[in-house]
Amino acid sequence: MSSKRKITVAYGDGIGPEIMTATLNILEAAGAQLEYDVIEIGEQVYLKGVSSGMEPKAFESLRETKVFLKAPITTPQGGGFKSLNVTTRTSFGLFANVRPCKSYSPFIQTHFPKTDMVIIRENEEDLYAGIEHRQTQEVVQSLKLISQPGSEKIIRYAFEYAKKYGRKKVTCMTKDNIMKLADGLFHRTFDEIAKEYPDIKTDHKIIDIGTALIADRPEVFDVIVTLNLYGDIISDVAAQVTGSVGLGGSANVGEEVAMFEAIHGSAPDITGLGIANPSGLLNGAIMMLVHIGQPEVAEKVANAWMKTLEDGIHTGDIYQEGLSSKKVGTAEFAEAVIARLGQSPANMIPASFDKEDTTPMNVKLKERAPEKKELIGVDVFVAWDEEGRDPNVLGEKLRAVNASGLQLQLITNRGVKVFPAGMKETFCTDHWRCRFQTADQAVISPAQILDLLKQISDLGIEFIQTANLYSFEGKRAYSLAQGE
Ligand code: NAD
Repeated sequence: MSSKRKITVAYGDGIGPEIMTATLNILEAAGAQLEYDVIEIGEQVYLKGVSSGMEPKAFESLRETKVFLKAPITTPQGGGFKSLNVTTRTSFGLFANVRPCKSYSPFIQTHFPKTDMVIIRENEEDLYAGIEHRQTQEVVQSLKLISQPGSEKIIRYAFEYAKKYGRKKVTCMTKDNIMKLADGLFHRTFDEIAKEYPDIKTDHKIIDIGTALIADRPEVFDVIVTLNLYGDIISDVAAQVTGSVGLGGSANVGEEVAMFEAIHGSAPDITGLGIANPSGLLNGAIMMLVHIGQPEVAEKVANAWMKTLEDGIHTGDIYQEGLSSKKVGTAEFAEAVIARLGQSPANMIPASFDKEDTTPMNVKLKERAPEKKELIGVDVFVAWDEEGRDPNVLGEKLRAVNASGLQLQLITNRGVKVFPAGMKETFCTDHWRCRFQTADQAVISPAQILDLLKQISDLGIEFIQTANLYSFEGKRAYSLAQGE
């Protein structure tokens, strides 16, 4: 039986075939034990009318090999096409996006020569669920869903990553000063899991100042773990400040399947010219080799690649007069790396990967006891655009409603309390959140809510959405309104 590991390979679009060929030539020369199942994805598939950009046989290949080395693809312009990356991530549960961002100074110019951080981004939840509704003439809603297991999985992964790769600190970034429940859950889970890793330093930064620090003092970060949207933004900021957008690789890792790629796109402007830098995809492939248990080959390739950079053999995108010694194309760059296999960089710290424990990282979630959940009220969202949008008029109308003690407590507009006793300066849209509870916040029944909705509807007021108000173990599990 062959000892070669079968992987799925897609040559992609634009510069994809050029950089994939260069990358596979380097892996081959370095002695990687690989067998390829080549699949077609991207533009050609989209244009055949497959809206995901991937045919069923591509999914079957991934299910079988569980490892995907993917070149960039071109997403056709216009509606109807779904992002192939998002489809692959969500279909195969690739919950962790891992992006190392490192400076290669002085060989690649950057203002931040000491940067060496890894961003670990939650990949499946948050606003990327894309659950959106237009609810009134003026207001649309995009649901941000954060789960406890989703948060725990990515946070554990970040700590396990730090342990495996000898990293010293994990920083969590959230906006839990505002989103106390959603981001608060992520932060709290981080604090809880951190206790299991006493040898790793931890801290937390609010995402806005955290992003500013990445742009100004990136060297203070080691591993960063964060939610999907924030991770998307900060990983581009981080790649930019290291000066290595064209060099960065990325891994999307799930419990079963993992996908490795470059962070850049298909670069249509330089397609076919033979000048693309294959380093981003090569760095993705190095992460893949570690993942599939071939760390010696990963090390050999990484060291030869760094030595090539040190020797000033640079593709056009990183070539600099005075700093570089030779401007090369894609194929020549690959040959230069191959010629240096077995050598180590003289100035940069050579790569070193764990050769003892080569099993892919996996995380196990903690068992949690079910908590006692009680229904103690409901927020009814209504569309209302009458009487000059005077909240007092709407409030008085809704005060007439009483479903076995379930009565109007307050109304907010875009989260700000406008009734009772709102401020006349508050700008009101046509979208109102009306909170109903009993006077003593007693436990209520779903039947009371149905009765309430009927009464609201009978008043000629259009309800557009409801959100139940719960307590868990007797603790309020919803946010208060601004001004409540
Ligand atoms: P891009 O990353 O393809 O190109 C941005 C700029 O960087 C261009 O000037 C390009 O020439 C240069 N560049 C990128 N990679 C390079 C390399 N390896 N060597 C030298 N120069 C390089 O971004 P874009 O132009 O915004 O997007 C082009 C296409 O790629 C779009 O269809 C987009 O949807 C797609 N895209 C795909 C992925 C992916 O498959 N993972 C990621 C991003 C963008």
